Amino acid sequence: MIFLAKAAEMNSDDGFKMGDPYYCPECERNHIKGQIYKDHLQYAQVPDIQDEEKAEEIEAEKDEDIEEEDLEDEEDEEYEDDDFEEEYDDDFDGVDEEEEEYEDDDIDDDDDDDIEVYGSDERGVEECIEQVKDLTGVGEATLRKLIKAGFNSLESIAYTPPSIIQEDSGLGEKTTAKLIKQAMKRLNVGFKSAETLWEHRKNIARITTGSQELDNLLAGGVETGAMIEFFGEFRTGKTQIMHQLCVNVQLPKEKGGIEGAALYIDTEGTFRPERIIQMAEALDLDYNKVLKNIVFGRAYNSDHQILLAKEAINIIKERNIKLIVIDSLIGHFRSEYIGRGTLATRQQILNQHLHDLLRLCDIYPDLAIVVTNQVQAKPDVFYGNPLQAAGGNIIAHGSTIRIYLRKGKGEQRVAKIVDAPHLPEGEAVFSITGNGISD
Ligand code: ATP
Ligand code: MG
Repeated sequence: MIFLAKAAEMNSDDGFKMGDPYYCPECERNHIKGQIYKDHLQYAQVPDIQDEEKAEEIEAEKDEDIEEEDLEDEEDEEYEDDDFEEEYDDDFDGVDEEEEEYEDDDIDDDDDDDIEVYGSDERGVEECIEQVKDLTGVGEATLRKLIKAGFNSLESIAYTPPSIIQEDSGLGEKTTAKLIKQAMKRLNVGFKSAETLWEHRKNIARITTGSQELDNLLAGGVETGAMIEFFGEFRTGKTQIMHQLCVNVQLPKEKGGIEGAALYIDTEGTFRPERIIQMAEALDLDYNKVLKNIVFGRAYNSDHQILLAKEAINIIKERNIKLIVIDSLIGHFRSEYIGRGTLATRQQILNQHLHDLLRLCDIYPDLAIVVTNQVQAKPDVFYGNPLQAAGGNIIAHGSTIRIYLRKGKGEQRVAKIVDAPHLPEGEAVFSITGNGISD
């Protein structure tokens, strides 16, 4: 509410001529008739007491702007880390607490020694963090916030929308924009020739599914840098394929693996270590090692699932994760958002979740994401297959490759490519045996 009424009163016939000085009891100072309205308006545009909260908000916004402007000024000069940190420590009360928290759930605290992480010829975690630290404007405090929120590489900063970086890290708008701009510049993000792209795609690593036929259908196996969705009715082998991939991703390259670890997000409670052991033994692998290289998270609801997916970014490098499994992707969403009225909200949240996942592929091109999906009957289909993947268009646009599974004879299952940017339509028959997935 703004006091306009008093100012308007001054315009009424109050016995003063235009240009006459006029003592205003409201402002306790003189106005000039004719200018009164303007002067008074300026004075009057103080928010009402009822709007105090709003005023505080505006005040806070102003403060942030000022701080960020300071940052801008400083950027021209040699960067003083300490100043920057102080500034941000001030505006971020929870820093000390959070710092402790960070140390507590530090990944290194886990029994990391037990976990055999395969060697990787790429940059290590430290090197990635060094590159972030090297960005102009990143002091200790900022770096801490970035790392805590999972932004521990140039890629993770460059490919994440600014709003998400701000929300997750607590950094200001301008700082975030600057960091993104710098990260993009250093990574040379922009147009590149198709030839460069081909160079990259030629070398894409693939994980064998265990079935030669299924691998052929997928042009060599589950490819990295993409999200693949297996959907089908119950008992069509979705969960079995997920288990098998967690084992196979660990195989050496010559055996169809990519020498990485797996992260399994289980939303249905159907992950079985026993099954992993069977599959590992069938491949003559030490099952203890294989189990250690599967990081497991049980998601109890859709929020939890989203959180686990967001946290994945923190351990991908440390644990050499090359495969992320979500079994199943939309089960929780389907049961929690019931009825037409909630559909739009569900799709929006699901869309964000999918983008969180797809972004991981951008950040880590040697990471494969595999998800399962249920089917739902499409009521308006009278001929052909009335079953389609749940989740609607959101999932269809999110996953790069979609495979439809159906039952065949006995242990046989049929996989059909439904949607893939570069693969021809086709089918493959595979089996689910005691040893896992095979032809
Ligand atoms: P849902 O939609 O219910 O999750 P799903 O598609 O995930 O189903 P899976 O659990 O992957 O289905 O597949 C179940 C099938 O796998 C069973 O029908 C069974 O034939 C086969 N299977 C599971 N374990 C074994 C095993 N140890 N030996 C042989 N076959 C097995
Ligand atoms: Mg299943």
